[in-house]
Amino acid sequence: MALIVQKYGGSSVADSEKIKNVARRVAKAKDEGSQVVVVVSAMGDTTDDLLKLAYQISEQPSDREFDILLSTGEIVSSTLLAMALGSLGYKAISLSGAQAGIHTDSSYSRARILRVDTKRVVSELRKGNIVIVAGFQGVTGKRDITTLGRGGSDTTAVALAVSLGAEICQIYTDVEGVYTADPRLVPQAKKLKEIGYEEMLELATYGARVMHNRAVELGWLYNVPILVASSFSDSPGTTICKEASMEVKNKVRGIAHDTNVAKVTVVGVSDHPGIAAAIFEPLARANISIDTIVQNASINNITDLTFTVARSDLLKAMSIVEPVVKSVGGKQCVTDSTLAKVSIVGTGMQNTPGYAARMFRALYEHGINIQLITTAEIRITCIISEDRVTDAVRALHQAFELEKET
Ligand code: ASP
Ligand code: MG
Repeated sequence: MALIVQKYGGSSVADSEKIKNVARRVAKAKDEGSQVVVVVSAMGDTTDDLLKLAYQISEQPSDREFDILLSTGEIVSSTLLAMALGSLGYKAISLSGAQAGIHTDSSYSRARILRVDTKRVVSELRKGNIVIVAGFQGVTGKRDITTLGRGGSDTTAVALAVSLGAEICQIYTDVEGVYTADPRLVPQAKKLKEIGYEEMLELATYGARVMHNRAVELGWLYNVPILVASSFSDSPGTTICKEASMEVKNKVRGIAHDTNVAKVTVVGVSDHPGIAAAIFEPLARANISIDTIVQNASINNITDLTFTVARSDLLKAMSIVEPVVKSVGGKQCVTDSTLAKVSIVGTGMQNTPGYAARMFRALYEHGINIQLITTAEIRITCIISEDRVTDAVRALHQAFELEKET
C-alpha cells in the first residue's frame, strides 16, 4: 500500500474549524487507499505566544525547559487532529516526536535529527491507524526533549517520509505553492508547477518562507518528491523534485527577498594575516551565522571589513566584535540594521554570463543603490536598503520576464 506523509502548518490548524477541515482532507487521502502519516505544526501563533511567555518569566530561560515548553504547541494540535479524525469515524493516534522515534543531538532550539526509529509508527500503521506526529521536536539519547528550530515541522515531515520510504511528502500551508516571487509584493508572480531541489534550497535559504530550508536539503539528499500546496483549496501546488523540465532549465526561476539583514563594518583594521580569524572565530563559537563578508582593498595596510548577520544576532555580534576590534587596534565598528537582501535564483545562471549585469541594470534603472553583492553557482544576491525591497523585487521580476513563467 502506498504511504504518504502530509504536513499541515500552523495557519492550517489555527482553530477548531480548521482542524476539522484538515481532518477531512486527511480522511480523503486515507479513503483513496494510502497509509497516511500526518505531521502538524502548533496552532496559529502558539509557538510565538509560548516564547513570549517564557521571556515574561525569565530573561534567560533554561534551554532545556524552553524546548519542552515550545514542544507542547505541536502536542496540542496533534491530539486535537487525532480526536477530529476519531469523530469522523477514522482510527487515528497522535505521537509526540519522542514517541515517533525522532532522535536528535542535544543542541536545544536547533537540534539536528540523527536518526528516525520508525518501529512505533510502522506498528500503528499496520493496525490501520492514521498516525499524527507532533512536528518540530525530537528526543536526545538522555531522553530530553529538543526542538528543531523555527519552522522545523517541515523537517520532521521530510525526515519521516525518508525513513518510512514514503512515495511523497505533501506540505500543506496557507499559500498555493512556490511562486516566482512573493505574490504579496508582485501581483504578477506566477505559481511554479515544479522546481528543482537546488533552486528551492537557495530560495528558501534566501528568504522565501514557504518551506524550511533544512527540509528541502533533506528531500534533495534522499530524493523524496515534495509537494507544496494549500490546505484551503484543491489547487495543484508546486512539486519540488530532482530536475525541473528541460525547457524551464535555462532561466532565472525565482526571486527571494529577506528583510532580516544587519550589517557590521569594522573600520580601520590593519591588513595582515590573522585579523579575519580573530574577528570571525569568536562569532562562530557563539553560533552566529555570518552571511556576506567583504574586505576592501587596503590603503597603507589599513582596511575595512564588512559582514552581515540576522538582525536578531546584531547585538550579540557587536558585543563580541567590538572588544576584538579594539584589541587589534581597529578604529571602530559601524552598524546598519535597515537592510534587505534580494536574490535571483536559477540553475540556468550556471556558466551563463550576463545575469549579474542584467540584475544590476534593473536595480540601477529604478534608482536602487547596491551596497554589497554576493554570488553563488545558481544565485546572485544584492544587499540594498530595506525601504526599496518591494521596488527591487518588482524590477527584477520584470527584467527577467518571470510573469511568463509556467
Ligand atoms: N511551531 C514551530 C514554529 O512556529 C514549528 C513549525 O511551525 O514548523 O516555528
Ligand atoms: Mg509555525
